[in-house]
Amino acid sequence: MRLLFGLLAATALTACTQATVNSTEITEPVKAAVVPAAITSNASASTWYNTGASDIAAANAAMASINTKRGSAKNIILFVGDGMGVSTVSAARIRDGQIKGGQGEENQLSFDKFPFTGLSKTYNVDAQTPDSAGTMTAMMTGVKTNIGVIGISRPETRNDCAAAKAVEIPSALQHAELMGKMTGIISTARITHATPAATYAHSANRGWEDISDMPKAAIEAGCIDIAAQFVNLPDRLKAADASYDDIGIDVAFGGGRRHFLPKDAAFNSSDADSDIEGDRTDGRDLTKEWVEKTGGQYVMDQAGFDTITTTPVLGLFSESHMRYDSDRSKDNRGEPSLAQMTAKAIDLLDDNENGFFLMVEAGRIDHGHHAGNAYNALQDTISLSEAVDAARQATSDKDTLIIVTADHSHVMTFAGYPKRGNPILGPVVGVGKDTPNLADDGKPYTTLSYANGRGFGDLGDSTDADALYDVDINAGRQLTLDVDTTKPGFRQEALVPLNSETHGGEDVAIYASGPGAHLVSGVHEQNVIFHIMNHAGGLTGE
Ligand SMILES: [Zn+2]
Repeated sequence: MRLLFGLLAATALTACTQATVNSTEITEPVKAAVVPAAITSNASASTWYNTGASDIAAANAAMASINTKRGSAKNIILFVGDGMGVSTVSAARIRDGQIKGGQGEENQLSFDKFPFTGLSKTYNVDAQTPDSAGTMTAMMTGVKTNIGVIGISRPETRNDCAAAKAVEIPSALQHAELMGKMTGIISTARITHATPAATYAHSANRGWEDISDMPKAAIEAGCIDIAAQFVNLPDRLKAADASYDDIGIDVAFGGGRRHFLPKDAAFNSSDADSDIEGDRTDGRDLTKEWVEKTGGQYVMDQAGFDTITTTPVLGLFSESHMRYDSDRSKDNRGEPSLAQMTAKAIDLLDDNENGFFLMVEAGRIDHGHHAGNAYNALQDTISLSEAVDAARQATSDKDTLIIVTADHSHVMTFAGYPKRGNPILGPVVGVGKDTPNLADDGKPYTTLSYANGRGFGDLGDSTDADALYDVDINAGRQLTLDVDTTKPGFRQEALVPLNSETHGGEDVAIYASGPGAHLVSGVHEQNVIFHIMNHAGGLTGE
């Protein structure tokens, strides 16, 4: 039989060929692109083939137009999906596509469209599977460190205040402040929590979020709690460089009021969760101190957020972490979404001729996973995708480097042989089937499950994953056909019973666009992310 070949008319292929070939390297005429008739005669095959070819054309165009010069990124935005491993991204992409009415697999999250990606090796100096403190320190300072410490280098310093003070490393945000950029931090966790803390603080223990969390010896040795370090950042920057004359972080949005307020009910906010909202045992009201020091505006709810028109601004929207995105509407004073906070921050920061540095953390992907609740982990990943989209629309890839990555993974797996378009939160229904597959034990099984954690649980329509800690640990095979596994309150099965599901140790992805983004290619140690931002932004000098 004679094979038939057809010519593909798609201009994408032509463009691809032209972009790839450098004229000095041509030794023989370029052959016309030929595509087998088995492809051109089949609509589905043609679509896959043509979109694949277009991707290559776009990749070549991105490579050709990238600005590789040191210091070419005026603005830098670092997005961190806390605990957003690759399986989380894949599942969230499908969930997002299915919510939008598609089959799901074909969908793209906003950062799926970024032209450059690489992998990040996340281990800490002393830990194979890392935590957020050590990993964010690597990304913010360029140096890997131990698990549990923030902004300090030396491995043997955990809890040792005096030793830690001698090895504090400036962060990318601190460099940005010193070079006259505006700066912002956003987190759906407490802004004193490990990831945001690593942008501005140095601490021998990530847990020292306010003075009541610190041992007496550390206080006596002169160590300062993380919330107080947020307030005294301008003093520390001035100590590092006497010419510094600014107020520190210009925009901060997140949760964590309890670490800023005195342990006194008289200081409670109108939506305090506890009888006494504040934790501070030194009587200081850091929200008031920050306003007096900076002349800025402090807001604590959606209405306050909506009034913001200028910097500096501190928004603390919750006593502890902000709510899960799917639970946000239940807040009685209202909380802005991650996308709203990101758009507002960029709007406030981008008037500066020196540009800005902004860190945005989707902090509760991690918390959904720890609770064994994929529903919220995926929804908060979608919320991050929307925030990245907002950032891309508000900036130009000519002058703004955007990096999206995770600090570490989790042990959620994406498995079985579900058919195309099967609900990602559902039980596995095989190709050509209409009812759930049954395992050898006669029970159904979900596409998403956890290697460890609290295991099966079912709170139905409850959207607060933290409530699942009130459901007993139920490891192993517990699922029955009558359970709706797609509900927000469902807790996936887990093999190893643990109080809290753990982080995963495999690599996470890095996505990048804008000047310097080409450096995000290959397998990097996590601390290289600082050096990419430093090269692109010239943070430590041209
Ligand atoms: Zn975690």
